[in-house]
Amino acid sequence: MKIIMLGAPGAGKGTQAKMIAEKYSIPHVSTGDIFRANIKNGTELGMEAKRYMDEGQLVPDELTVKILLDRVAQDDCKNGYVLDGFPRTIPQAQVLDEALTKLGESVDYAIDVNVPDENIVKRMGGRRACVTCGATYHIEHVPPKKEGVCDKCGSELILRDDDKPETVKKRLSVYHAQTQPLIEYYTNKGILKTVDGTVDMMDVFASIVEILG
Ligand code: ADP
Ligand code: AMP
Repeated sequence: MKIIMLGAPGAGKGTQAKMIAEKYSIPHVSTGDIFRANIKNGTELGMEAKRYMDEGQLVPDELTVKILLDRVAQDDCKNGYVLDGFPRTIPQAQVLDEALTKLGESVDYAIDVNVPDENIVKRMGGRRACVTCGATYHIEHVPPKKEGVCDKCGSELILRDDDKPETVKKRLSVYHAQTQPLIEYYTNKGILKTVDGTVDMMDVFASIVEILG
């Protein structure tokens, strides 16, 4: 099963993708997580990506597509995967489709987690991410057991640089200009499913499970 998560930054794509990955035993592939791991390890890719991420801009398609195609070619992806944060532009979607067509495969579901902009800025300010394992929390909705400490691995939780309000507003405008057109793209392919992302995360997940079966 190959699933794409669509939605504004902070809509809950990562939260849902992790639950989907666990229930359906497929890898959770997040281009944002791959970039952040590279930044942490000080790689050339990380340094290049950081320039764009800190500005709330998208990392260029060329770079992003390459890392994604390399990742999904790995062995653990052979029975499917859930993509979180990719594609974010029409050219990215086209490259993915072309690569899958060559293998006689295609995306099964594009799930749009729908949350209005008003809710997003609030959510992002409350998001906390683990510096080591990437687990995410929310100071009100999904608090860790101990403030500032990851439940899963005990490392420090931080507010991502790109979750500061000025950058979130920029990321939202980039989302509307460059990523939202994917909703029409996948509607035309007949695989778009929309869920209400404003409700409790377990209720969002229940709607997704209803779609995926
Ligand atoms: P995305 O991957 O789309 O950027 P996340 O999954 O990281 O978004 O969620 C953004 C923030 O909102 C996180 O702090 C997360 O804990 C919180 N969150 C996710 N889903 C919900 C929900 N249904 N209701 C309230 N908060 C949520
Ligand atoms: P995310 O963790 O999905 O919110 O992504 C964080 C940042 O990484 C984004 O704001 C972009 O700068 C960059 N990024 C992640 N995925 C992509 C992508 N598919 N295309 C371009 N940039 C991306």
